[in-house]
Amino acid sequence: MTADIQPVYPLTKAQADEIALLHEADTSELESRLKNLSETCQSSCATGFSKCATHQNEMRKLYLNAYTAASPGRWTSYRPAEYTQDLKRMFDAQASIEKINGRVRKEKMQHIKDSQCTFGPSDHPTTKKTKMRAAELRGTAMPQSDIDSYIIEEEQKLLSTLTPEQQEVQAEYDKSQSEAQKYSYLRTCVCTPKPTDTPRDLELRLKWTKLFDNKVPYNEILPVMEKDIADAKSNVQILENRLADLRNAQAANNKAKAAKEESKRKQARDAIRRCCSEGCGNVCELSGPNADLGCERCFAMKEDGALQNYSWFCSPECAKANAGSHNARFHST
Ligand SMILES: [Zn+2]
Ligand SMILES: [Zn+2]
Ligand SMILES: [Zn+2]
Repeated sequence: MTADIQPVYPLTKAQADEIALLHEADTSELESRLKNLSETCQSSCATGFSKCATHQNEMRKLYLNAYTAASPGRWTSYRPAEYTQDLKRMFDAQASIEKINGRVRKEKMQHIKDSQCTFGPSDHPTTKKTKMRAAELRGTAMPQSDIDSYIIEEEQKLLSTLTPEQQEVQAEYDKSQSEAQKYSYLRTCVCTPKPTDTPRDLELRLKWTKLFDNKVPYNEILPVMEKDIADAKSNVQILENRLADLRNAQAANNKAKAAKEESKRKQARDAIRRCCSEGCGNVCELSGPNADLGCERCFAMKEDGALQNYSWFCSPECAKANAGSHNARFHST
């Protein structure tokens, strides 16, 4: 194991197996030493083991060693340094072995929770769901063994749905025994570009690769990655919102423009005055000497509201030639 790589959760299967083996060996070693000690005491001291100060002290030393010795590959190596310091303090303060054992049990439970419920970087969504459910179950009265079988069952179910390639990747990860192997596996997962990567994704992968190059512990890289991904997402969201605003503004602008053009067209339509002489239909001028040539009687009727439109003539000639027939048509009564 590379010393500068901190052990982190979640555990690979190989790591979990190694921890279990070492734990079993450590426990039986401690038990047999304790047994020897009490036998030695019984055969050589008169007070009885529980009241023999000398051998009770020996016993505390055995526990102290077993609980606080440096322990690569053991579950305690995954725990924060404060845990061991805490235990040393309890031994120094002459806390009872029962109390100390209680503290160890509590930490071990936390270790089991962390190993069963911590998300891995390449966890399948189903695995994440199972881990969340397992964390919930820990808050209930369900025995640990039932939670263990629940997790194993879900893992089996998931495995059967994976493609052969996915199963191979999973098996490769499961086999990683050392933190160095796991670290390089995680590095591959995180830093290998994917065909769907955007330029921003590629930038981020480069950034993360540097963290791995600098041997930053994975549990410190993970929050950085999560933040980068969330930021990238929110950037996309901001960009999308801005685009939507632009599109809305553009649409409003287009609508206003269309309305303006329509009103211009209407004005233009209104502005075209056709000569009312039968068979003429010329456009009347709006300015100049021939502008505003119209039938005065129609004007008066229009002002009174009796007519829809004015009647215009295109020229004095047209007006003179057609006034008679116009009057006959519209003003004969
Ligand atoms: Zn003794
Ligand atoms: Zn008229
Ligand atoms: Zn005319």
